[in-house]
Order: sequence, then C-alpha cells, then structure tokens
Amino acid sequence: DVVRSCLERMRKMEPHIHAMLHIATDSALESAAAVDAAIEKGRVPGCLMGVPVVLKDNICTSDMPTTCASKILAGWTPPYDATVVKMLKAEGAVILGKTNCDEFAMGGSTENSAFGPTMNPWDVGRVPGGSSGGSAAAVAAGYAPLSLGSDTGGSIRQPASFCGIYGMKPTYGQVSRYGLVAFASSLDQIGPFARTAEDLRLILSAICAFDPCDSTSEDRPAPRFDLSDAPLRGKKIGVLAKLVDSKLTADLQAALDGQIAECRRLGAEIVEVALPKALEYGLACYYILAPAEASSNLARYDGVRYGAAHKEAKSLLELYVKTRGEGFGPEVKRRILTGTYVLSSGFYDAYYLTAQKVRKVVKQEFAAAFERVDAILLPTAPTPAFKLGEMSAPLTMYMADIFTIPVNLAGLPGISFNAGFSSAGLPLGMQLIGPRWSDAMILDMAAALG
Ligand code: GLN
Repeated sequence: DVVRSCLERMRKMEPHIHAMLHIATDSALESAAAVDAAIEKGRVPGCLMGVPVVLKDNICTSDMPTTCASKILAGWTPPYDATVVKMLKAEGAVILGKTNCDEFAMGGSTENSAFGPTMNPWDVGRVPGGSSGGSAAAVAAGYAPLSLGSDTGGSIRQPASFCGIYGMKPTYGQVSRYGLVAFASSLDQIGPFARTAEDLRLILSAICAFDPCDSTSEDRPAPRFDLSDAPLRGKKIGVLAKLVDSKLTADLQAALDGQIAECRRLGAEIVEVALPKALEYGLACYYILAPAEASSNLARYDGVRYGAAHKEAKSLLELYVKTRGEGFGPEVKRRILTGTYVLSSGFYDAYYLTAQKVRKVVKQEFAAAFERVDAILLPTAPTPAFKLGEMSAPLTMYMADIFTIPVNLAGLPGISFNAGFSSAGLPLGMQLIGPRWSDAMILDMAAALG
C-alpha cells in the first residue's frame, strides 16, 4: 500500500515537477510484494523494510537505466548495482526509480539535464537546486520518504535547502562510491535526503559502512546514528564573523540569527571563527580541481565502451568527435575544456598545482577552527531557490556554491536543514559542518535545530 500510494503521488505530480528520469512501477510492486511475503514468513525485517527510495541517476542500477541525465548514456543499463544500492536492497528498501539531475552532476539547478529541468515543488517557476535536484524535489513532493544524491561541491545540501528538507553529505570515505558515476573522484560523496531527521538516521545507518570495492572507503567501525535529548548542551558552535562580501538577504540573515539564538537556548556556546581563505579562494580552487578530475573521468565516454556510438562515423577520430560532440551538453564540454587546459603542460603548475596547495590551506583552516569549536553553523546557500533561467550565466551559477564547496575540499561532513521560510514562502536552509567522522554528531544537532 505504501509503495502504491507513492507511485500514485508520483503519477499525479510528475507532469508539474519532472523529478524522475525512470519510474520502475513493475519492479517496485514486485519488490514490495516480496517484502510482504518475507514479513509473513516471519523473517526479521531490515531497517528499511518496504520503504520507498528513489536514486539520483548517476548511481548504477543493474535493473534500471543510468544516464547521468546525459544523451551520451541514454538507454544504458549498468551490469551491476552500486554498493549503496546493494545495501539498500539488503535492508528491504524498495527502489521506485531514478531521479533527474544536472548532466554528470555538473550544475546547481538541474537545468543542465539533457532531458529537461526539474521544478521546485514549493514554486514550479523556480529550480529545485542541483545537481541532485530530482532527488530533493521527489522527497519534498512526497514521491518517497527517502532518496540518495551525490555531493561534489554542494549538490545534496543546496537542493535540500531549496526544497526545505534535510540533506547530508557524509565525511569523504564514509559512504562507498563504488557504482557512483565519477565526476570529481576526490570530492564526490553519496548522501541521503529526507523530510525528517529520524528518516535520515535510518538510511544513513544502512549506507555508512566500509566497502573494499572503493579504495577511498575508510575501514573503520560503522557509526551509530542515535538522536539524543540535548545534543547541543555544552557544545561550542562556530559562526563566521564575516560571510565574505556576499551580503545575505534580510530573510536569510534573520534565519541565521534565529538559529544562533536557538543554539544558545539549547545550551550551546557561540564562538566566532574565521575561514577567510576557504571563502575567498575555495570557489576558484574547486573550479580548477573539479574540472581537472572530470576531464580525466569523462575520457571513458568514447562511443565504444558505454552508451550509444554515433552511427555514421567513418573513422575512429570521427566516432569520438561525433559521439562526444552530440552526446555531451554545453556545461560538460566547458568543464572538460577547462580541465584539460589546467592539466596541460605549461599551465599545470600555475593552475592545477596552485589549486592543490590552496586545497591544503582550506583543510588547515578548518582544522584550526575545529580546535576551538565542535561544529560550524552557516547558511547552505546565499539565496533561496531562484527562478528557472535566472542564473543562465555559468559564473553566476558557480557563485551559488560558495558556502558548500569548502566542505568538499576538506572532506568534511555537512548537513543542511530547513530553518524557516522567506517572506515569499520559499524554504531557507542552514548548514552544520563538523570535523571528519562527526557525521552522527552533526545529524543529532541538526535534528534538534531543524
Ligand atoms: N554546483 C557545483 C558544480 O556545478 C557542485 C556540483 C555537485 O556537487 N555535483 O560543480
């Protein structure tokens, strides 16, 4: 019944939202029936027994296509399930389908999807954020209580903030990336969306585990995600004295002030911290490193190994040129060109190497801050959801990541939660950032604040 009602909700809302790239009605109903049968036989239910989940379309599924919202992978079905998909299935979750996103997760609005944008359920004239916009919109619109996305520079936290729900980017190495189509491997991390902290806790318990198939997965005991009574009591929460020059809107500033007051009321001490380099150079550093890694990762789409090859090519070179020329969208091409440029001999030292040094400085800045505080509180994004088409200049769109990107550069966990609404009725998101492996602590704190 639960699966049926979610599918029905999807059927009604999809014409307005377009959050899904693939809806697996038959297999979802079959899995749900299998779960019912297992329960009837008295088998011990997993922590997600019968719970509907949708997955960003860059997470490999052996029984559904995985397109990364790109024409170059249209119709491609992977030969295996990502580790997170195996883990969800093992806990009894029912996968309802795959969600829309920016092509290869490159973007912040889901407008870069080759299959058309997703609309924000709070206002269909606005974007849901991105790149995991479909996963955020699907949960906000009630298609499923849970979804997975991926976050390379903010792609879980920013859409969670735009859609008024929880979204978490775990510590780098906490969740297996095996079967996540790579964008920038040193920054990518899979994480969940949910409407309540309790739901988030359940799915995190299912997916946070060591995986020998991912060489960057950390072999450590799986964390326990418990929600406690007074997670902020006696804790030190860092706030930034100066949020660079990006003036927050009055609504967002009021929401931040409200959260600071709430932290104090719940027994926390507020301490001013500074992250000047992370905020000033983080974006520039990311937009060198992420494209560099992307240009290498995307070299595999040659029209031979994956997806559709161009039919009329007469030589190997023509096959590459035509397949990629028609298969990749403009933002993906822009990133590949930027990445190839910053890695080319002659420019490598000036760009790539310098960016790696800046990344180290950003890490050190966070480490110094976490010697003084337990967690840092700041807005997830500088604005609420913007209108479709409003941020058409790539550079304006890149600026929207200013508060989320430093977290990926430093490999830290970050969680976005709803902190009220703007005067226009749009959700406003706040973000808690903790030291590496403090995932359970920041979830616990966000549950008390959100
Ligand atoms: N908006 C950022 C970008 O375009 C982040 C994307 C992401 O986290 N996948 O790269």
